[in-house]
Amino acid sequence: MMTSVGFTPIPNRIIRLTEIAYNLWWTWHPEAQELFKRIDARLWEDAYHNPILFLREVRQSTLNGAANDPEFIRAYHDILTAFDEYQVFENTWFKHTYNDKLKKPIAYFSAEFGLHECLPIYSGGLGILAGDHTKEASDLGLPFIGVGFLYPQGYFKQLITANGDQEAIYTKVRFAEAPAQAAFDIDGKEIVVSVALPARNGLPDRRVYAKVYHIQVGCVPLYLMDTDIHPNAPEDRELSARLYGGDQEMRLAQEMVLGIGGVQALKALGVKPAVYHMNEGHSAFLVLERARELVDSGLSFAEAKEIIRKTSIFTTHTPVPAGHDTFPFPMIDRYFPNWHDWLKISRDEFMNLARQDQGWGPTFSMTVLALNMAGHYNGVSRSHGEVSRHMWHWLWPNLSVEEVPITHVTNGVHTETWLAPELKRLFDQYLGEDWTLHIDDQAMWDGVIHIPDEQLWEVMNQLRAKLVDFVRLRTRQRMFRLGMSLNDIEATANLLDSRALTIGFARRFATYKRATLLFHDVERLKRIVNGDGVRPVQFVFAGKAHPRDELGKDFIREVYHRSHEAGLAGHLVFVEDYDMNAARYLVAGADVWLNTPRPPMEASGTSGQKAGLNGCPNLSVLDGWWAEGYNGQNGWAIGHPEVRYEDEHEQNHADATALYELLEDPVVPLFYERNANGVPVKWIKMVKETIRTVAPQFSMSRMVKEYTEKLYIPGMEE
Ligand SMILES: *Cc1c(COP(=O)(O)O)cnc(C)c1O
Repeated sequence: MMTSVGFTPIPNRIIRLTEIAYNLWWTWHPEAQELFKRIDARLWEDAYHNPILFLREVRQSTLNGAANDPEFIRAYHDILTAFDEYQVFENTWFKHTYNDKLKKPIAYFSAEFGLHECLPIYSGGLGILAGDHTKEASDLGLPFIGVGFLYPQGYFKQLITANGDQEAIYTKVRFAEAPAQAAFDIDGKEIVVSVALPARNGLPDRRVYAKVYHIQVGCVPLYLMDTDIHPNAPEDRELSARLYGGDQEMRLAQEMVLGIGGVQALKALGVKPAVYHMNEGHSAFLVLERARELVDSGLSFAEAKEIIRKTSIFTTHTPVPAGHDTFPFPMIDRYFPNWHDWLKISRDEFMNLARQDQGWGPTFSMTVLALNMAGHYNGVSRSHGEVSRHMWHWLWPNLSVEEVPITHVTNGVHTETWLAPELKRLFDQYLGEDWTLHIDDQAMWDGVIHIPDEQLWEVMNQLRAKLVDFVRLRTRQRMFRLGMSLNDIEATANLLDSRALTIGFARRFATYKRATLLFHDVERLKRIVNGDGVRPVQFVFAGKAHPRDELGKDFIREVYHRSHEAGLAGHLVFVEDYDMNAARYLVAGADVWLNTPRPPMEASGTSGQKAGLNGCPNLSVLDGWWAEGYNGQNGWAIGHPEVRYEDEHEQNHADATALYELLEDPVVPLFYERNANGVPVKWIKMVKETIRTVAPQFSMSRMVKEYTEKLYIPGMEE
């Protein structure tokens, strides 16, 4: 049962708070979060919305007070009722549709899972997609198990110095303070898996061990491995310390633990998956471990491969070459010395499973390994499917590009994770109490037209004001840290205008996302933001650059300096430490969501889907999901997809010009055109069209159903 060591003793009347805290179900049920906030709102913020930390730190008298407050007790029981009903697992979509497929689970492997800000084991879109996918698998009742890493230091916290430089801070997550518990095998022992690693840096040939932790996400268990344990050498303890830390050898070792250790962990748990889903190539070594087991059991490699192909799904996530891990052959020889013998194939046959010839010679590519060994593949949007078929055509030389068997499932977002509670209440009122059971139903969403304009506008104003408050608070905290003057700090009370047209831009600062395109013609931008003093426009930026991406960090510095430039200051803010918490404020509070990737590099993008769900129209280049989502009435398209320039600068010039033109007309005038009651009627029409079209089509509900129908069920038929 629950270990609650270190918790403030919880009065019996509210003892099940522990259960709520240890099931990440609360992350997509704001009413459950509200419980903790009611007990001590200040501590809830200080604990960064982490209920485990909260229950360790909360005062006894405060807890007793809650236990004796009839109103709190009523809310507590309402939550428990909902929580218990959720876990009964009876009327789920999967059970209704595929009752005979419930016995053996889908094992979903991902190097990151973005579930909540209190568990920093994600870096960006890929991880958040995995977290959303897991939550939806629970909602839809899929037999589903997640496998990944628990990084004790997680991804970094971003600080911006007084010069605008990004500083990366890694802090140790204490597992006693995370909603994670040790996982046990069928005999009740803690699970520890291990992988053999070759000598390196004075370390001998050795095994590295990983302890397996369990995190419960609604009805779905997640098993995360951690190498920071005895008896690993200090270097090996660091293996899973950081997401995407270390050098190439460490990366290779990490991926071995994920793929090979992950398969062992499932075995120790007594789990026999029906299918394995590799979310990106990081986990592709799992096919080798499965092959080893099958060959061990007496099959030939060809027979093992056939089984693995039928039951493996691989999703590729980016056309950016750096997003596809490759390792030099000599390194693979050192890390997999006996594997070809174990698999009863030659060394060359082993290498050929993953061989990709680059300009400088052959490499062992995780994507190629997955494409060779899995049998079901997809990209993450229609256009990315197409790009991927071109990119990997060489693996199917006998087929035409169109015949390359990589399909697509366009990404989506988990509605209840990303929808602002204020809007949820409005939807409850106008879409029907049980609307959350019909999230991918277009007809249900057509009902948004019934929401009165005034009421919707009122909520938009509230959400913008909340974003502005959040920006002011974050800015103040940063200025305190930097020791700025009290006068300057107090001036943040006037930072931004909670009535002004607010444009959000937040994502990783990868260079292809062109965060600085907006500054192409600064004088023109200044005229736009100033709006003759009557139609002001403001921009909120946020995002992290990979610690080794110098160009990305230059982009951050530029945005930061622009935010202090005369004519832009006060209209442009960079908020530090973009994470899921900041993202929720941004996607809900912005009026327009800006995205300016260089086509075709944006495989899908999901932040614009979160924004759309919250009634924030997209202003974006037609790339990734937006090429499917844009319908002429629900936002704006920057530039023309048919007009492409070879020259980067020409392309930037064309796209920036198109962006300014759109902002000048229609975006700004439309926002400021008000009726006698001060309501921007035409704007609200676009807001409703945005929700109506984006919410169902780009929901996780639609996405996970599509994965199930197109990829999981065909694999499970075997
Ligand atoms: C949604 C999200 C992302 C991904 O955004 P893209 O638009 O796909 O780049 C990255 N980081 C955080 C914190 C997010 O919430």
